[in-house]
Amino acid sequence: MAGEPQSDCLFCKIVAGDVPATVVRETETTVAFRDINPQAPTHVLVIPKVHYPDAASLAAAEPKVAADVLREAGEVALEEKSESYRIVFNTGSGAGQTVFHAHAHVLGGRGLQWPPG
Ligand code: 5GP
Repeated sequence: MAGEPQSDCLFCKIVAGDVPATVVRETETTVAFRDINPQAPTHVLVIPKVHYPDAASLAAAEPKVAADVLREAGEVALEEKSESYRIVFNTGSGAGQTVFHAHAHVLGGRGLQWPPG
């Protein structure tokens, strides 16, 4: 069923506590944890607890939870004192998506170039 945990999904395992992660925030609908391979001083992933493969499919099915992810991304930046930051949703392998459970990258703590590579 849509949104149900997937046994082969790394981020569903983090939500379940079966894979350890450095969690910085948790709400009823989201978890935020540090990326294992940080690309900036602040690099936190915000994920919905429900499983959808990408941000757009999450937003189509559960718009409130998608909004929760965005709000939490802003809260992470506030907590990390990142005045300027970037929220990234890589979507599709050609764009660099490697984990097919919707997630926002929150990047900050250094200057960020535009356009990204
Ligand atoms: P994507 O490439 O799909 O946009 O982002 C997936 C992110 O998950 C990558 O930045 C990668 O470093 C991170 N990641 C992969 N495996 C783990 C893990 O086991 N723990 C944590 N905390 N992050 C992970």
